[in-house]
Amino acid sequence: MTSNDLLAKSKKHLWLPFTQMSDYEKDPLIIESGNGVYLKDIEGNTYLDGYSSLWLNVHGHRKKEIDEAIEKQLQLIAHSTLLGAANIPSIQLAEKLVELAPEAITRVFYSDSGAEAVEIAVKMAYQYWQNRGYENKKSFVTLSNGYHGDTVGTMSVGSIELYHKVYTSLLFDAIVIPFPASKEEQTESDLCRESLKQLRELFEAKHEEIAGITVEALIQGAGGMNLMPKGYLKGVEQLCKEFHILLIVDEVATGFGRTGKMFAVEHENVQPDIMTVAKGITGGYLPIAATLTQEHIYEAFYGEYTDLKTFFHGHSYTGNQLGCAAALANLEIFEKENIIQQVEEKALFLEEQLKHVAELEFVGAVRQLGLMCGIQLVQHKRTSEPFPWEQRVAYRSTLKMRALGMLTRPLGDVIVLMPPLAATNDQLKQMVDIMKEGIMEAATECLEQQV
Ligand SMILES: *Cc1c(COP(=O)(O)O)cnc(C)c1O
Repeated sequence: MTSNDLLAKSKKHLWLPFTQMSDYEKDPLIIESGNGVYLKDIEGNTYLDGYSSLWLNVHGHRKKEIDEAIEKQLQLIAHSTLLGAANIPSIQLAEKLVELAPEAITRVFYSDSGAEAVEIAVKMAYQYWQNRGYENKKSFVTLSNGYHGDTVGTMSVGSIELYHKVYTSLLFDAIVIPFPASKEEQTESDLCRESLKQLRELFEAKHEEIAGITVEALIQGAGGMNLMPKGYLKGVEQLCKEFHILLIVDEVATGFGRTGKMFAVEHENVQPDIMTVAKGITGGYLPIAATLTQEHIYEAFYGEYTDLKTFFHGHSYTGNQLGCAAALANLEIFEKENIIQQVEEKALFLEEQLKHVAELEFVGAVRQLGLMCGIQLVQHKRTSEPFPWEQRVAYRSTLKMRALGMLTRPLGDVIVLMPPLAATNDQLKQMVDIMKEGIMEAATECLEQQV
């Protein structure tokens, strides 16, 4: 097929996720191949992968060890079901995940995407209390602006108005508490203390009906890269223990080195009852996800079949061998190449580079944890006044960046920078330079169009 054919057929038959297809028609893009931190389209243009192919990629594309692990597994078998039967790579990966995860985690329940991992966590937490005879513990607490996926269950414990509002009557009710966002004239420790005080009041009043709380680890991703005040997640953990509420931590975006630790909960030594992982688990290769639990969760489901405690949940491709083999190879590279320490160093370098971005007139805030960054765009730094949303300044900035040789996506007025962990300092600098230029071009254009 020629590239013109491909373009025409993509417009005729595809329906892309999180995409207004009229936007795609105006600015289509078809990727043909990738290598390292670069992607190449069918016209032969190359781009820096500034969003790790949507927060997934770790060691770059076509990483030799992962390619080979998949080929090797293919010689044995591509897939057999995990329903009632294990397979070799799923066992090896489970052992590895338990070794890497916080100490209290002992069990691995596989699925295929982050949303499924969270959906499973919610169902597990719900049934956990039912199985144990606490029939009133049925509701969930979640943070405003939280994002846990796009299925009906995960939208119910999510709280992003733009994505979720239209489905309101389809969703179950969750108790939404405000994300501890810093306000002016409030120190981080005051914010932390006051937010935890409010949560304590909620737990005191309602703990008998609350099954669990879902929370992203330290930084909200899709909600716009919002950082929690230090100590908040630890405080949530302590309140959960005190009031017998399950702590479900979503590490889908933050897991596997993204924040400078293997898992973001390590920054505060938090031990979730249930923890969800996906995205980086296979190095960005194949759709594997997992819901990790402490042993007490598992035990609440264990018994004779006739006890009716079984967790009746599963997906056709759960525990896929090719995916687990890719994940194992991915995790081996973490050790071999000392990735976590490298991320810590690269994050410091990136922080320095981002200072130049923070100075721009159109940048209201730069938020960063490890190699996870959000750049908030505003019309005027001094007033923090946003651009009219219809102007889509961040989206337009990303189109400019594409023309300059880097791909990423916006979240509202926030530009995401999530480079593969393998990006070198030189490549990080190039990404930041392109980002600066893209922001300036688009923001200037937006202002011009207002007069
Ligand atoms: C991406 C994401 C999800 C959903 O994962 P999918 O694989 O896209 O279903 C859930 N939680 C968080 C924190 C995420 O960033």
